[in-house]
Amino acid sequence: MPEFRSLIEGYRRFRSSDYIEQRQRYDALANKGQSPKVMVIACSDSRVDPTRVFDTEPGQMFVLRNVANLVPPYVPDDGLHGVSAAVEYAVTQLEVHHIVVLGHARCGGIAASFSGQFDGAEHGAGGFIGHWMSMIAPARDRIRAAAEISPDIDAHAALELEAIRISLANLRSFPFIAAAEAAGTLQLQGALFDIADGVLRVLDKASGRFVPVGMDWDLASDSQH
Ligand SMILES: [Zn+2]
Repeated sequence: MPEFRSLIEGYRRFRSSDYIEQRQRYDALANKGQSPKVMVIACSDSRVDPTRVFDTEPGQMFVLRNVANLVPPYVPDDGLHGVSAAVEYAVTQLEVHHIVVLGHARCGGIAASFSGQFDGAEHGAGGFIGHWMSMIAPARDRIRAAAEISPDIDAHAALELEAIRISLANLRSFPFIAAAEAAGTLQLQGALFDIADGVLRVLDKASGRFVPVGMDWDLASDSQH
């Protein structure tokens, strides 16, 4: 199994090139700590690396990745809430200005939701995945029913977008996120990347639709983003 060896070889390339070229940046990050102003919540899928998609530098984004880039609702109990801990740190300690929920096309988690292959499975045999994806099961059932009536609906694609909207709504169930958004110090963004065509779609808050970002995307005239 040579895969870990290839990681070590990659590390050696990194140490002899990028790390040297960006030594000042790494020294500053080591000495001053991180102060990223953007949090990205992305899928664990190996094909969709947010630092590649957004071409960012170390220190620029606070990244959380999990199955299907989902955020569960605010539940202040004694459970071990990894997503909640990460968003709490990002918002209350790093004081990020944006949280971006980055979905992606052809998501295996979304496909598993539709197939139902892990519904009711034992822990260790898909049970953790099934329970995690149950977060969007009501939306899946709704979209499946709509697609049966209207065959032109791409149910898989529709659920990928709806899952982003659900995660954004769940983020707003955290009191400190709702408060920061109301105060204007935090903006929540939704986006979806398709590796097949390289197109990023961004949730337009006014229309509620995901709009493709063209290379002529004008940030200056688009203050809502
Ligand atoms: Zn995925």
